[in-house]
Amino acid sequence: MHDPLWTFFHPRGVAVLGASANPTKLSYGVLHNLVAHGYSGPIYPVNPKGGEIMGLPVYTSIADVPDPVDLAIIVLPAGQVAGALEDCGRRGIRHAILMASGFGELGREGKAQEERLCQVARQYGIRFLGPNCVGVLDTYAPIDTTFIRTMPKRGSIGLVSHSGAVCGGVIDGASGVGVGFSRIISLGNQADIDIADALDSLAADPHTRVVAAYVEGLPNGCRFVEAARRLTARKPLVVLKAGRTPGGSRAVASHTGALAGANEAFLAACRRAGAIPVETLEEMVDAVVALAFRSPLAGPHIAILTNAGGPAAIGADQLDRHGMHLVDLSPQTQARLQNVCPPGTMTGNPVDMLGGPQAEHYTAALQVLLDAPEVDGVMVIFVPQAITPLHDVAVVVGQVGEMAPKPVVCSIFGGSGIRAAARALHAHSVPYYPTPCRAAFGLGVLWKYTCIRETHIPEPEPLADVDWAQVHALLAGKAGILDPQAGAEIIAACGLSVPPSGLAASADEAAALADRMGYPVVLKRVAPSLVHKSDADGVVLGLQTADEVREAFARAIRSGERALIQRMAPSGGLEVIVGAHRDAQFGPLVMVGLGGVYVEVLRDVAFRLAPLSRGEARGMLEEIALGRLLAGVRGLPPRDTEAVVDALFRVGWLMVECPPIAEVDLNPLIVGERGAWAVDVRMVIR
Ligand code: ADP
Ligand code: MG
Repeated sequence: MHDPLWTFFHPRGVAVLGASANPTKLSYGVLHNLVAHGYSGPIYPVNPKGGEIMGLPVYTSIADVPDPVDLAIIVLPAGQVAGALEDCGRRGIRHAILMASGFGELGREGKAQEERLCQVARQYGIRFLGPNCVGVLDTYAPIDTTFIRTMPKRGSIGLVSHSGAVCGGVIDGASGVGVGFSRIISLGNQADIDIADALDSLAADPHTRVVAAYVEGLPNGCRFVEAARRLTARKPLVVLKAGRTPGGSRAVASHTGALAGANEAFLAACRRAGAIPVETLEEMVDAVVALAFRSPLAGPHIAILTNAGGPAAIGADQLDRHGMHLVDLSPQTQARLQNVCPPGTMTGNPVDMLGGPQAEHYTAALQVLLDAPEVDGVMVIFVPQAITPLHDVAVVVGQVGEMAPKPVVCSIFGGSGIRAAARALHAHSVPYYPTPCRAAFGLGVLWKYTCIRETHIPEPEPLADVDWAQVHALLAGKAGILDPQAGAEIIAACGLSVPPSGLAASADEAAALADRMGYPVVLKRVAPSLVHKSDADGVVLGLQTADEVREAFARAIRSGERALIQRMAPSGGLEVIVGAHRDAQFGPLVMVGLGGVYVEVLRDVAFRLAPLSRGEARGMLEEIALGRLLAGVRGLPPRDTEAVVDALFRVGWLMVECPPIAEVDLNPLIVGERGAWAVDVRMVIR
């Protein structure tokens, strides 16, 4: 796989524009890290003042810098960046890291400045990171262009982040407990290189085995999803996204100046991408630590080994929350535990060795549990006690865990002496967590990853039986909210069932239409401003004769309005809502839910990105109560679930094939025992 950022990690010479001899300046920090963190190629500080910094001669102009030089780090104030980038272009440098803030995140004027950078880059064929970023770090190359305090130790975690400060905080925190990294990529405003490039780079890097992404806005959500899918075909991806609440999106908008989208769209994007979404920074770190260190969790059957009952009970509840459970230990396993554990040990699950087990008890009991065929993974809990050396327990759990083909996670629940114990565990590739809750979360991430791998989402099937030219012809010249008849015709052209219907301008026309289509029919008011027809006495159901139709027309339809005459759908159907709209970042999104008047209150809805496969459509129904209702409950017959699946699949393709459609709602789709009918179609054309 091609690494689009390869030269950023392996430049044959780096120039630092704006290098300073003043140790309180960021540019000094950059040069310091470049020199001190192992980069072995030539380093060229550039500053019109000349002189010497850290023993390196300072060039007064980038034009004077000798070959080879592949990468420029520009640490100048915003106003000087475009000019410096142009100088680099003239000098033949094709890769740059732009650190200054004061561009697109400031609004319109900043955006114009940023566009200027892109123009220069296009003119000279330069690829750049930033502006407003700290660049890259690779512990294997090695190279560190950032001014982050620590160089992390080597490891298998790759981190990409819009925020340089998140990189700094995560690295510093994780380094303190002995967690290593392979690569860090700070994106900033991603005016040129974006998160998709970064994900491709991390996918290609052989040292990176798991990726964490901190994401703010995604101007091109579809590129993100495609790159994430390429990555997750090879390694796990954990994503933390800010701006998922109204408050958070304001903070993001003023931060990197990008648009943040609704939470549903983000979760749908993660699902399509095979990525694991997380809610907090702790969760992001906890998740990648589990994935980086441990072998896959084959099943959800967990054993807890502990010296205290309370924390184990709390941990067990949390396992349940994450879709796993305590396994029933076999009589053989329990007998083996009796042989190696202190007297009085409760050998059910949790295995509670009570107060006072020594390190060797942990060693032997953990080994028994790992050997037990019924156990898929083990959570070890240790609450520090006066009589048992904390560090010894950490070391033996690490030693036994390291050799195991099954995951072991360890929670040392306490405060003092923890960091050294955490380092000891991590040195043996056993994840450490401060609480049983977070240990359960770590196991839960492993389980989720196993489930994701097993249900790899296929590409959506093509939709061959629709004549899209006909659909486009029906859409031609239309704008705004379509009347329900026009909407129904488009939906019918997509292969969905709609009851026969037509528009009538008079009572006689209405009666004639009804006679042609057959009874019973429904009459509905059609007026440009009318959205909820039944709220305005605009729906008259169950009309059996021409006279009833005439009478209903006279009663319901006001002057200048028309009536929609529609055949009644077979009675006894379940009302479902199927809808779609366009998310600003991720594009078309399809929704399904329980229809009817309670839809807003119950919020029993599921979302997926369009186009979606029939399998994904089935998954939507499985995740909400509607799916169980369709399957038949309490003496009610099962309904035609596949007809709903087909409707979702077709509406997904409609949104992809017809960009002018901004929104569509089938509310309700009436689902019978065989077949489903869209009786109310609302479509908005942009
Ligand atoms: P609105 O949503 O604007 O109030 P609808 O066209 O959805 O109007 O009609 C309201 C309700 O009437 C539907 O939810 C459904 O219960 C019923 N209904 C409408 N059209 C039909 C039809 N053709 N067959 C059976 N029931 C219908
Ligand atoms: Mg309706």
